[in-house]
Amino acid sequence: MEELQGLQVYKFGGASVKDAAAILNLCRIVRDFGPQGPLVVVVSAMGKTTNALEEIYDLAYRGEDYSAQLGAVEAYHHRAATELHSYFAQPDDTMVTQLPNYFQELHQTLQSINSVGSYDEGYDQVVSFGESLSAYLVTWALGNALPKQVLYNGALVATDTTWREGRVDWVKTEERTQEALHGLLNDWRGRVMVTEGFVGQVQVDGFTSTTTLGREGSDYTAAILAYCLRAERVTIWKDVAGLLNADPKIFPDTVRYPEISYRETIEMAYYGASVIHPKTLKPLADRGIPLYVKSFLDPAAAGTVIHECQHPALAPAFIRKTDQCLLSFASKDFSFISEENLAVIFSALAQAKLKINVMQNSAISFSVCVDFSERRVHQLLDLLREQFTLHYNTGLMLFTIKNYDAASIQQLTTGRALLLEQRTRSTFQFVCKA
Ligand code: ASP
Ligand code: MG
Repeated sequence: MEELQGLQVYKFGGASVKDAAAILNLCRIVRDFGPQGPLVVVVSAMGKTTNALEEIYDLAYRGEDYSAQLGAVEAYHHRAATELHSYFAQPDDTMVTQLPNYFQELHQTLQSINSVGSYDEGYDQVVSFGESLSAYLVTWALGNALPKQVLYNGALVATDTTWREGRVDWVKTEERTQEALHGLLNDWRGRVMVTEGFVGQVQVDGFTSTTTLGREGSDYTAAILAYCLRAERVTIWKDVAGLLNADPKIFPDTVRYPEISYRETIEMAYYGASVIHPKTLKPLADRGIPLYVKSFLDPAAAGTVIHECQHPALAPAFIRKTDQCLLSFASKDFSFISEENLAVIFSALAQAKLKINVMQNSAISFSVCVDFSERRVHQLLDLLREQFTLHYNTGLMLFTIKNYDAASIQQLTTGRALLLEQRTRSTFQFVCKA
């Protein structure tokens, strides 16, 4: 482990690799801001590639023609590769010449997709290509841009066979990461290793198969690798200035937290703040690895550091969840909502896989706010219809203000009819019409 001291992990999301200019910017960040010591670079698929691959997979699965969509994804990658190629003074041609082969491979995977076990298993084999392509491109670009040696390594995260939501096998992943780095230790210092985010691997009957960690899972990959390599720090490069108190696309006048604790950030992610994948913080908190969130548009700016710290007062955080459904249950015989009743309701919610975002109890009724899914809500209604009268409202929004004050509550609630509200010492939540 000695030689690995000072290892850092950088994660670049889809927006930071979306075209040739963005990839050049990534190269500049690694060159001008990267650490002296070893660096692991975790990348997401370019731009909106994952969405495009989901669509292509759906078409292929239904036996429909996907050639136009696949052609567009290939053209998009080809364009980035050729633009980069013309930018570098003495580029090697590998990327431009290899690209058609990668797409040929993807085409073959799509052709044989119906022989794969399940829809979800096939999904992982196809959709993971986005990250692989991006990792090849970034490895190649960095190799041309840096005086350092740049290596590509396939996905290092070992999972189980929970397709599309692979659960990490920590022991195996630690073994694999250590092993991958061990062979490189001698001249590892100063090197950069690129790998794909979001993607995992699992052994099935002696064969290696691909899994994924769930949408937006690349942040989590960076945290897993940092944990296994005992990294000194992780930096997530984003198109925002750091961790903000609200999504600037929804709320005006956001403020950046210069530093914030793991705990606060985990809670924000729980309430629906979309800035960091919710599973990311735990491995980092477990090993006390600080997470920096920085802007790839302004890499010299401070950003946010998430680590163990005390903060007496934090600016209120505003979090909005859309497409909510408010369900109210009343017992049919007007009896009070008892522990027995609640046990039945909770078990039905769990069975229908409806996650409770807020709940509230009154004498003869009980209300929960959940993410709306028509299928799941109907399943719930079927389970409970006999014992309870049920009402539900859809098309709602759930707002959470963490570390609220009077002004922030007023700012958000004025002019809105609240269907449910709740406050604890640190959190104010309400449900209202969209
Ligand atoms: N490319 C994947 C997605 O869009 C993973 C990620 O971006 O983190 O969901
Ligand atoms: Mg992404």
